[in-house]
Parts: sequence; structure tokens; C-alpha cells
Amino acid sequence: MAKAKADAYKDWVRAVVPRLREYFYLEAWHIDLVWEEDDSSAGGCSGVIAHIDINDSYLQAVIHMMPASREMFDDGDTEKLAFCLVHEFSHILTEPLYKVAVDATTNASANFLETIREQQTQRIALAVFRGIPEELYSL
Ligand SMILES: [Zn+2]
Repeated sequence: MAKAKADAYKDWVRAVVPRLREYFYLEAWHIDLVWEEDDSSAGGCSGVIAHIDINDSYLQAVIHMMPASREMFDDGDTEKLAFCLVHEFSHILTEPLYKVAVDATTNASANFLETIREQQTQRIALAVFRGIPEELYSL
């Protein structure tokens, strides 16, 4: 039973991620998934749903699916989980400017950059998600 539920969660993520990759016009990108067993990859921050490592040069990204994402799926909240994935994909769009900006930050502006990065990423995610057909994540 537990294995079937875990399979359903991973199957859902494995189905939705390629659809989002296409939706974001990122077909040239290779997106890997890591199924995290604890919150250590998020700096021990509990409640993080997912986070992403991005390599713009090689068009590669790794999405780390955190334990909270599994709980969200088990609770049946796939719309919220899909939005979290859209947020991670939106990071791919904001990453190049972030990388340029991070080299120009000072101690005084570093926190501002991190805040602005998350806020702009979230705004893009909200705008994109508004247009995503429910069929993309309703399997
Ligand atoms: Zn973010």
C-alpha cells in the first residue's frame, strides 16, 4: 500500500515535469529529479516543498522533491503541488539575471537581491499558473 502511494506520487511528478518543461518552452533542457528523504538539502528548513539547482550553460536542472511535497500529494493537493513545480520552473527563467546580479551585490544589497529574486520568481509563477490548463497536472 505504502509502495503504491509512493509510486503514484513519483509517477505524477514524472508525468507533470516533462509537460511543464514543454509548457515553459524548455524542451532543450534536461531536468532531473531527486527524491529527498529529509530536509537537509534545503538547509534543514522544514516545509520546503521543492528546490532547484540550475546550470544555464548546459541547460540542466535538478529539482529536489522534498518530503513536504510527498505529504502534499498524499493530501490530494496536486493543484498546489503543481504550482510549486511551476515556481521551480520559473526559477529557470529568473536564474540568468540573478547570476549576473549576484556578482554585483554588496553586503548591503545581497538580502535585497535574494528577496527580489524570490518575489519576481513567484510573480512569474502566479502569472504562468493562471494560464495552465488543469489537464496538465490532473492525471
Ligand atoms: Zn523560489
